[in-house]
Amino acid sequence: MTRPFTAGLIAKALTSLLDERQFEPIRQIDAYITENCNCRCDYCFVEGKRPQQMTEETIKATVDFLLLKSRHLREPILLFFGGEPLLAFDLIRFAVDYGDYQAALMGKRISYSMTTNGTLFDEEKLRFCRDRRIIFLLSIDGNEKTHNVHRKFANGRGTYRAVADKIPLMKQYQPWLGVRMTPTPKTLHKTAASVKHLHNHGINQFIVGLATGLRYTDSDIARYTEQLREIGRYYIDRKREKAHLRIRTFENDADQELGSKSDIWGCGAGRGRLSVSASGEIQPCGKVQGLNNLAGIPEFSLGNVLTGFTNLDARRNFIAFHYDLRKACHDCDLTDDCAGGCPAVNYQATGSVFRPDPSECRITRAYLEVKREVIARLEAEGLA
Ligand code: SF4
Ligand code: SF4
Repeated sequence: MTRPFTAGLIAKALTSLLDERQFEPIRQIDAYITENCNCRCDYCFVEGKRPQQMTEETIKATVDFLLLKSRHLREPILLFFGGEPLLAFDLIRFAVDYGDYQAALMGKRISYSMTTNGTLFDEEKLRFCRDRRIIFLLSIDGNEKTHNVHRKFANGRGTYRAVADKIPLMKQYQPWLGVRMTPTPKTLHKTAASVKHLHNHGINQFIVGLATGLRYTDSDIARYTEQLREIGRYYIDRKREKAHLRIRTFENDADQELGSKSDIWGCGAGRGRLSVSASGEIQPCGKVQGLNNLAGIPEFSLGNVLTGFTNLDARRNFIAFHYDLRKACHDCDLTDDCAGGCPAVNYQATGSVFRPDPSECRITRAYLEVKREVIARLEAEGLA
């Protein structure tokens, strides 16, 4: 009696495995190691904060899932994300011990990275990150006044000093120190000054991207465009001096959130990149996962690392990006350079991952315009 049932299950598992082969191998998992945060930044795209943290079983399943689903890739990426990952430092230690051991058994090596507000770093944690190859990216917005406009602890106090005072120590352990800066309508006029301030304080890699989900007027965008131009001039001057400085906004493979295009519509989410929530649920990327009070987008729930993919149709739909679905882009002159906007941002603004927010499109236009100018100048001077 059990035979047909067992054969059916095996057939189903095999079909599912074959089905998975239609997709790219997984290159990166954004792991919500904890959904809790010690800060309450008012522009954070993670809607709501929950004290939920991954269990050892869930992070082990996440590592196993990454190693298995990365297939032939030798160096998949595990991003510790949240919430504030350093709140779960013991779990990070556990994940890295387990990950290194399992990866070695498979002849692989995991590249670890972490996005952090930096406020909880101490020397022990920094040493661990260096020794175990965890590359971290800080969230800092500028000088004390600019940073503290939005970035605050739960008690309302600004976080600038708690992170900036540690920059010299951080640099001892990670000399290439990167930040993600998030200007808003209230702070965008300080963007160029913020880059210069942080560069003078030892930061040498920048990702600059306006906060999403906010309204920007035409004059905001015009002011921001001028700020980008000023950053571009600063960048070119530093390049002439052969200074150690990278500004990803002006690089050809720039952050996909800026709308830059590779060879596909859309981005890596759901293709080579996935996110895993604290309870193990799989969504297309960490930013998608952060929507709807950390429930992600329900129709793009792909399964759970404890049980595997259970909804490959949702993955297929997420990355479909059919021409017909992208009506807003049909007549746009930026389609050679723009990948259709960040699906998470699109969803947040319009309720559809396929329909861009016209306000975001104006920002993309400004980015691309300045980026082209800067790259042309760098190329003309042989500095690209
Ligand atoms: S309409 Fe917007 S999302 Fe579409 S290609 Fe143009 S700028 Fe990009
Ligand atoms: S959905 Fe947005 S945040 Fe996520 S990988 Fe794509 S561009 Fe980046």
